[in-house]
Amino acid sequence: MTVFNPPIREYIKGGGYIELEEMLGDDLTPARVARISYLSEGTEEANKKLVKKLIDLGHETPFEQQVFRFLIHGIPMYIGEQLLRHRIASPLKRSFRYTHPQKGIEQDRWDSVEFLNSLVHVPPEFLGLREHHIQESDKLFKEVMEHFKKSFDLYNKLVENGLRKEAARCVLPWGMRTTLYWTMNMRSIMNLMRLRLNKAAQWEMRELAKAMARILLKVVPITFEYFLEKHDLRKLLDE
Ligand SMILES: Cc1cc2nc3c(=O)[nH]c(=O)nc-3n(C[C@H](O)[C@H](O)[C@H](O)COP(=O)(O)OP(=O)(O)OC[C@H]3O[C@@H](n4cnc5c(N)ncnc54)[C@H](O)[C@@H]3O)c2cc1C
Repeated sequence: MTVFNPPIREYIKGGGYIELEEMLGDDLTPARVARISYLSEGTEEANKKLVKKLIDLGHETPFEQQVFRFLIHGIPMYIGEQLLRHRIASPLKRSFRYTHPQKGIEQDRWDSVEFLNSLVHVPPEFLGLREHHIQESDKLFKEVMEHFKKSFDLYNKLVENGLRKEAARCVLPWGMRTTLYWTMNMRSIMNLMRLRLNKAAQWEMRELAKAMARILLKVVPITFEYFLEKHDLRKLLDE
C-alpha cells in the first residue's frame, strides 16, 4: 500500500501549483466500503481486484468515500471560475475584498516576466510554453505587460484614495492569480478528469487537471491508473 506523506505538491505548467494537504481513505477504501453490501471482508489482493471491478461496472458511489483536500495556488481567476462550475466539491477561495493582490509577492519589477507572471497569468503563447503563432508577438507581449502595469497602478491609486478594495478590483485583469482550497471526492474527480483532461478543455484547465492527476497517481495508484486506462485518458497526461 502507498504511504502518503503530505503535503504533495505538483507545479502547473504556465504557473502556480497544486498541493494535496489531506486525504480521507486510501487506495482500497472504495473496495472496503463497497463490501458493506454483502457484509464481507476481503484480502488486499481481493480488494485490488474489486476496485477495478467497480470502475469497470461504473459503480462509482464507493469512490465518494475517498476524499482529497487540495490547496490550489496561483491559478488565473477565470480558471477558478471554471473550477467552481464543478458543484460536487467544497471550495474556499481567497478574498480580494480583504487582501491586496500583491500580498505575498515581494518583488515589484514590471519589466520582469517572472514577476508579471506571478501576479497575472501570462498567456503561454508569449512564454514559448504553447506552440501557436501569434502575429507581432513581441510587440503585443510588450503591450500586455504595459496594460497589466496600468491596471495595477490605477487599482493602487483608487485604494490609496479611499475606494474599497472590493470595488477597486473592477479594474484588475481577469487573468490575475488566485488561491483556493478545493475538497473533492474521487467520484467527482473522475467526472472532472473526463471533462477537463479532454482536448476540448482550455489549455490552462488541462494543465491543472494534469497536475492533479500526477498527485493522484502517487497517492492512489491502483484506483487512478486503472481509471485513466479504462477511459483512455492516460496518454493525455503527456500531451
Ligand atoms: C470543454 C468545456 C466547455 C464548457 N463550456 C461551458 C460554457 O460555455 N458555458 C457554461 O456555462 N459551462 C461550460 N462548461 C462547464 C460545464 O457545463 C459544467 O458546468 C462543468 O464542466 C461541470 O461539470 P458537471 O456539471 O458534470 O460537474 P458537477 O457540477 O460537479 O456535477 C457532477 C454531476 O452531478 C450531477 N449534477 C450536478 N448538478 C446537477 C443538477 N442540477 N441536476 C442534475 N444533475 C446534476 C451531474 O450528473 C453532473 O455531471 C464547459 C465545460 C467544458 C469541459
